[in-house]
Amino acid sequence: MDYNYHTHTDRCGHALGEDEQYVKAAIEAGFKVLGFSDHVPFKEVHHPSERMDYAQMEGYLESINALKAKYADKIEIKVGFELEYFPEYKDYYQSLLKRCDYLICGQHNKTLDAYSYDLYADDEDVIIYANQVKAAMESGLVSFIAHPDYFMLGRNRWSDACAQAARIIAEAAEKNHIPLEINLNGLRYGKKLYGDLEVYPYPFPSFWQEVAKYNVKCIYSFDAHRPTTLLEKERIALVLDQLNGIHLHIEEQFRI
Ligand SMILES: [Zn+2]
Ligand SMILES: [Zn+2]
Repeated sequence: MDYNYHTHTDRCGHALGEDEQYVKAAIEAGFKVLGFSDHVPFKEVHHPSERMDYAQMEGYLESINALKAKYADKIEIKVGFELEYFPEYKDYYQSLLKRCDYLICGQHNKTLDAYSYDLYADDEDVIIYANQVKAAMESGLVSFIAHPDYFMLGRNRWSDACAQAARIIAEAAEKNHIPLEINLNGLRYGKKLYGDLEVYPYPFPSFWQEVAKYNVKCIYSFDAHRPTTLLEKERIALVLDQLNGIHLHIEEQFRI
């Protein structure tokens, strides 16, 4: 694996480190491409522990673009955003895409006002979640889906609705040729009990068992919220251990 397209900056309020430290760590880790995809700001919201303010966007783009030039002979740097897909913001996302290299969808929230799937996701919610992610893929705006099994953070068991959600997502990924991300940062929550199964919340094995039935490309991301995360390649082994026996098409080299 020589890429990471899911990297945050301290502007989101829950990540640490200077932008340049992420670049240096990525070079040390041997990556050929480092993509920054910090949480997208929205003009009308102020969520200092969740995402940068809209006023910080210019500084973010300027900083990463300057690093792009500074390190051009060492690593390819891309700048983008991780967004929650709300159709009413489609024009806004489109305008962002004109100013950056790529967008990814990480559907953390059901609505813009802070209700988050990581706190609670019942059967009805997971279907809503899956359809939001599907709409993101159909929009043609996003390059991949970050932690498509994110909803498992807000649950304590797998269910038929979860399996249905996985199929909605995998089918849309296959149809729209959108890769699904195996997130290497679900480990930070530690193992949780799901019924009698004790696993990291994501990548959640039952989810990826459904994905394996489709012709879907999978990619890894560190979802780095601190520079040193990019150096922790042992995360891949931990995640592969959790997905043991599930046959996925994982891209060792992926480019947006
Ligand atoms: Zn984050
Ligand atoms: Zn992220």
